[in-house]
Amino acid sequence: AEEVGGGDKEVVKSYFNNSGFQRWKKIYGETDDVNKVQLDIRLGHSKTVENVIKMLTDEGSLKGVTVCDAGCGTGCLAIPLAKEGAVVSASDISSAMVAEAENQAKEQLVVGNGDIAPVMPKFEVKDLESLDGKYDTVVCLDVLIHYPQSKADGMIAHLASLADKRLILSFAPKTFYYDLLKRIGELFPGPSKATRAYLHAEADVERALNKVGWKIRKRGLITTQFYFARLVEAVPA
Ligand code: SAM
Repeated sequence: AEEVGGGDKEVVKSYFNNSGFQRWKKIYGETDDVNKVQLDIRLGHSKTVENVIKMLTDEGSLKGVTVCDAGCGTGCLAIPLAKEGAVVSASDISSAMVAEAENQAKEQLVVGNGDIAPVMPKFEVKDLESLDGKYDTVVCLDVLIHYPQSKADGMIAHLASLADKRLILSFAPKTFYYDLLKRIGELFPGPSKATRAYLHAEADVERALNKVGWKIRKRGLITTQFYFARLVEAVPA
């Protein structure tokens, strides 16, 4: 399956409404019915979320800050952001994911349970390409892995156009080592093979940001045995 027209997006959407939804709901959840690999990915991903929250709160309180969470999945980031007082717009191409995120938010965002009364995120079924509006911050975590760099360039440019102050992206870094492991197939065991995974060279992501007038201000790398993500925070240059 090489890069074909709009094909990637349809395949990704159907995966995350079906088997991908079942798989990732478990990984992003808290139940025990996960295998060793899934547990490891859960840990890695939760580190990414923690890092993003830290990047954001390092700059001051999130109270009233508008955040667009593009490709929100089950709400792993949107919910803690709301707990910090951010006004979150969360969207995903998969209606199953959005429904799960909404359920999670209703369960977890209980008013009067902490210092800040959380604002319920606004959830929407939408692919990130059709998002509009302006936000203080735009975040897009672990979504680019589903798209080749040729598509990622446009997605990055679009996300940057929605952001006033900062854009936070995570992606699977294309390095010699990871490329090799991916080829061997070690990193994507089991049913996740249903979709292609694309690694992105940091230089390519940086070039896409620079092209639209943004520069990388902070970088992080999150790795466990089976999960690896490069995290970048970009600001207008
Ligand atoms: N960002 C979430 C997180 O880190 O918890 C979910 C990451 S999950 C690996 C990838 C998500 O991206 C899925 O929920 C999928 O439906 C969504 N997605 C994939 N392509 C998308 C697109 N073009 N627009 C919006 N969402 C997309």
